[in-house]
Amino acid sequence: MGRRSRRHPSDAAARATGRSARARFGGETPGAVTKGPPITLTCECGERHELFHGERWTCAACGRTYDSGRIPAEQYAAIRRLQLRYRVVPIALGLVLVALAIVFTLTDNLVGVFFLMPAGLIAWFVFIRPTHRKRYRTAIAELPRWELRPE
Ligand SMILES: [Zn+2]
Repeated sequence: MGRRSRRHPSDAAARATGRSARARFGGETPGAVTKGPPITLTCECGERHELFHGERWTCAACGRTYDSGRIPAEQYAAIRRLQLRYRVVPIALGLVLVALAIVFTLTDNLVGVFFLMPAGLIAWFVFIRPTHRKRYRTAIAELPRWELRPE
């Protein structure tokens, strides 16, 4: 059976109370960058599994089959953009630090380099990272949940 574009009749009602499927942030599941954040699916029997959007999964314990392609693509895309935005911040800051280090090195400002590295690390761990993580957690808490029905 192919991916269904038809909306499940109980989607609207289920979304309000649904708790079985949600995107997860910050995991190191392979493919999380290219395929988007994995969706944690909890089967009606209690079995848990992570899958990417569009993947199907058949529960090994009870045989129910779920299709994560039923999750609205635009909602999932919004989550994916959020994930990429939060990944970009530390990378961008790291690049800025490297660029400054290169500038200081080229201008023979070695004191600048030796000051920059610890200062940069302190700034990251003391000031930037806690704020970043707090926003990250808020973003996670606001993620939608979906109810996926077994087929
Ligand atoms: Zn199951």
